[in-house]
Amino acid sequence: MIIKAEQFLKSKIKEFYEKNFITVPGVESREFGYGIYNKKILDRNINFKDDYELNTFLREKVPFYLSYSCGHYQYPNAKPTTAKNYLKGDFIFEYDADDIPTPCKKTHDSWKCVKCGEEGKGHIKKCPKCNSKTEISEWICDKCLDATKKQTKRLYNILTYELGFKDEEIKITFSGHKGFHTKIISEKIQSLKQNERIELMDYITEEGLNFKELGFVPDNKGSIVFQGERLGKTQKYLQFIKTVLESKDSSELLNYFDPNTSTQTLNKLVNNKQEALELLEKGLFYKPRKDSLELWYNLLENLKDSQRLYVDRQTTIDIYKIIRCPNTIHGGAMLLAKDLTIDTLDDFKPFEDASIYKEGTLKIHLKKVPRLLLNSQIYGPYNDEIVELPYNIAIYFLAKGAADEAIL
Ligand SMILES: [Zn+2]
Ligand SMILES: [Zn+2]
Repeated sequence: MIIKAEQFLKSKIKEFYEKNFITVPGVESREFGYGIYNKKILDRNINFKDDYELNTFLREKVPFYLSYSCGHYQYPNAKPTTAKNYLKGDFIFEYDADDIPTPCKKTHDSWKCVKCGEEGKGHIKKCPKCNSKTEISEWICDKCLDATKKQTKRLYNILTYELGFKDEEIKITFSGHKGFHTKIISEKIQSLKQNERIELMDYITEEGLNFKELGFVPDNKGSIVFQGERLGKTQKYLQFIKTVLESKDSSELLNYFDPNTSTQTLNKLVNNKQEALELLEKGLFYKPRKDSLELWYNLLENLKDSQRLYVDRQTTIDIYKIIRCPNTIHGGAMLLAKDLTIDTLDDFKPFEDASIYKEGTLKIHLKKVPRLLLNSQIYGPYNDEIVELPYNIAIYFLAKGAADEAIL
């Protein structure tokens, strides 16, 4: 028997909501939105008076997507947004694997010209042959998700070590498909206005970070000295420099110092690492050449780039934004938006820990799928063929639109 993807997935979503009761803290003051097959948001400005009303909705409507606001309002279903009367809101960061330029994207993403049909690997927005627009087919793999995890951890470290938030004030949630949400749930920042949010965001993402303001200032001999208080960020960068210098493998030096730095200068640094480290302790920078000023500032800038956070600024700043509701199904991947902790993040495997189906296999009719590393297994490439796959992978391909039909 052949069942169309939409019908098949909908029956599975219905089954899930009939067996599971979803609870949402502060449900009554949040705005909700929902989506159907192939459409993430069909309607929003919806409100539920309690969890029972929400669960009735889930069983009757069987949405492919359920989003909720991080903001709490007096009138959550009022339109326009300003009429909702914003009361408070969580501070949220969204990481999406799509936004992080991982090298694997060159192998699994592809483009196709809408006009002449020319195609190729990677992300090319304009056809090199006829200059027309291209359609880009995006995939994610284990490596993309690992990069997203790394970003989430980096953010967590900034929030805890630099800003002093406590473990229990930070919540990490798998988005159900391509990324993670990090939420700060703290009285201290719930009432921040939009401009204050932007300020905090700039601090966290190090947008416009100025090393001179951090105390890395030039001395009169053309080197850098360190002056002032060693606050969180300054301390962090001093530690980075130490790590680069202390590394046994000198390739760290090649990675972070300006590629135009002469071999002579780099070797001088390698051979005098100990001295450089001792000077650093005293707030002084080793001077391997005349213009060492530029050398160290370049290093600081490169370290900053390597620490860049690819966080979606709009999600954080927009106090009316709605995001995937935790513990509900993401219908574009058939995975659960799952709450995690910093300790469970590392070992989290979406296809095992967030999949509703762990056993059995399913036969599907796959269209075009590149070779992908999913759940530590290599799948594909596939091209218009019927394949029997582990249930969690097969249902993922159906949800992603890579297969039109399930064959039972
Ligand atoms: Zn073309
Ligand atoms: Zn990838």
